[in-house]
Amino acid sequence: PEWEPIHLTELVRDTFMLLEGEANYRGVNLSLELAEDCHIRGIARELKQVLINLVRNAFDALEGGEGLIHLRLQNEQGHYLLTVTDNGVGIAPEQLTRIFEPFFTTKAMGTGLGLPVCKKIIESHGGSLYVQSELGAGTTFTIKVPQFFQ
Ligand code: ADP
Ligand code: MG
Repeated sequence: PEWEPIHLTELVRDTFMLLEGEANYRGVNLSLELAEDCHIRGIARELKQVLINLVRNAFDALEGGEGLIHLRLQNEQGHYLLTVTDNGVGIAPEQLTRIFEPFFTTKAMGTGLGLPVCKKIIESHGGSLYVQSELGAGTTFTIKVPQFFQ
């Protein structure tokens, strides 16, 4: 598929709005923090899919207490950082190294394909996908993508 100019701020806002209903239904506090006027090139549908995958994984990681998921888009020097942070169960160190492997899942009905696909999509956009996690405290996935000025 062809790359297109993408207003990343709008894409993140749209995807957030798409997931708000599901968050409300689950009793999860989903919040948004956006830098304005962020522009990249790429495939909008794929990037939305990545964001939806990361937020759905965050939903799955929440249990008990008040579930919080925060989406944040930051404008850095030459690139953007898009983070999805949850206060869920976290990921054990020995699993952190494996979560991007195809078919690795800790879920009864999981496919283990979400994260490998996310990583592939972000890398095909010239970016990278990172994770930081603390068991029992929560997890942050960070998407880093190059800026594009028209
Ligand atoms: P699936 O969701 O089908 O299990 P994924 O590739 O999306 O496959 O995720 C792989 C594994 O990574 C999950 O089974 C889970 O153990 C872990 N994981 C992903 N996101 C989170 C998160 N936000 N918090 C805790 N664990 C996570
Ligand atoms: Mg998943």
